[in-house]
Amino acid sequence: MRTLATDNRPPKTPFADIVTGCHVLGTDDHGDPVWGHVSARDPEGRGVWLKSGGRGFDEVSYEDIALVDHDGALVAGSGPPPREYPLHTEVLRARPDIDSVVHCHPPYSIALAATGQPLYAFSNGAGPFAGGVPRYEEPVGLVQTAELGAAVADRLGDARALFLVGHGIIAVGSTVATAVTTAILLERACRLQILAASAGGITPELRNPGKRYVHAESDGYLLRTWDYLVRRLDAAG
Ligand SMILES: [Zn+2]
Repeated sequence: MRTLATDNRPPKTPFADIVTGCHVLGTDDHGDPVWGHVSARDPEGRGVWLKSGGRGFDEVSYEDIALVDHDGALVAGSGPPPREYPLHTEVLRARPDIDSVVHCHPPYSIALAATGQPLYAFSNGAGPFAGGVPRYEEPVGLVQTAELGAAVADRLGDARALFLVGHGIIAVGSTVATAVTTAILLERACRLQILAASAGGITPELRNPGKRYVHAESDGYLLRTWDYLVRRLDAAG
């Protein structure tokens, strides 16, 4: 059974979920290999908890999680916070309906976005993306300013995920669990589309699946997937 050190864990923080979310992403080739972050809004309104930069998702421990305020100042935990913290603070500022942001560099998502094709939601796991995945096309390098973070948040709009073209993805959720699962399902959907393209392409019917996958759009669907991913992680030790 995987265990987390709890001795020094501050009360009322979401960072245990962040550690678990990082470990789940670490089993699914979402690292690059040490870049990418998971964040969660501080329930007490002090800012954002997030994974430090420079650590692989699979090796993250509670010592790698920091609380920063909206200006990036370290409030609690260990630093240094990732340089792209404005991506998290600005998306959370723009989206009061969500409490968690994942930013990472998964290979199939980056590859599909680079082709210029839209994502076609032609599988159950792609159900959450039936409304489309917006694209941020401008060259961004790293999202290190509040202005750039706000521009990215604006492009995300009310979607569940965004392609940062030539860079990576953003996935959001009402919890760390749903944000992480959204990132994993987006990567799977992109992989399926690349597989389908290599095997001759996607039929016109499946390019516009309509309501076929509406059952997979709910947080409940995402959480059932998350529960399995955590059980698998625990079973692996
Ligand atoms: Zn990045």
